[in-house]
Amino acid sequence: MTSQRTRDRLITRLQQQGIHNEKVLEVMGRVPRHIFVDEALAHRAYEDTALPIGYGQTISQPYIVAHMTQLLIQDGMPNSVLEIGTGCGYQTAVLASIFPQVYSVERIGALHQQAKKRLNELEYYNVQLRHTDGTGGWPNIIYRFDCIIMTAACTEIPEALIQQLGSDGVMILPFDNGIDQTMVRVSHGADGPVVEDLEKVVFVPLLPGLE
Ligand code: SAH
Repeated sequence: MTSQRTRDRLITRLQQQGIHNEKVLEVMGRVPRHIFVDEALAHRAYEDTALPIGYGQTISQPYIVAHMTQLLIQDGMPNSVLEIGTGCGYQTAVLASIFPQVYSVERIGALHQQAKKRLNELEYYNVQLRHTDGTGGWPNIIYRFDCIIMTAACTEIPEALIQQLGSDGVMILPFDNGIDQTMVRVSHGADGPVVEDLEKVVFVPLLPGLE
């Protein structure tokens, strides 16, 4: 059930849905998604669907993970990425297999601890995790990130994230306008941030504060 063949089937499905980046397909073919979900759900880990991870949160659908990752690297090979919403750590592991430096923050302490343990056991040593509110970005940052990815939907793009995004950086996030959610790409323009609508999506909401 967790065999390479099951994983290969998922890759074929991702290709059919328009994921074409070789690196993304190769990485998603080898990151063990079943390790990031509860044992009772492991047999469903290679279905292209979101699954519950406890605390009212979900592991994102593989297509969404692949699509967002593809959008981050489509214009070259960035060095650093900040993820808001570590959750179970699966997207973090995919990013860590591609980016030299990965930073990820999570507001729920238990999820942060669990992701830390899993990512350590799987030997992703280029990942730094923090238990903090992602609306503030990475605490006491000394440089800016090449990419930022948010895995929960916000109703306002946090100012701290715009400030922590490098001048040529790309930020991908789900934006909730009160009616529905749209995946957007944010970059720096001559007159401030440029926000480009991509497609309709469904994410858990970005929540304030720590738990
Ligand atoms: N990337 C994750 C997605 C998890 S769902 C995965 O593939 O498993 C989104 C996550 O964002 C949840 O774990 C939730 O607790 C977290 N989150 C929500 N609001 C947050 C905030 N303000 N700061 C940091 N994390 C937040």
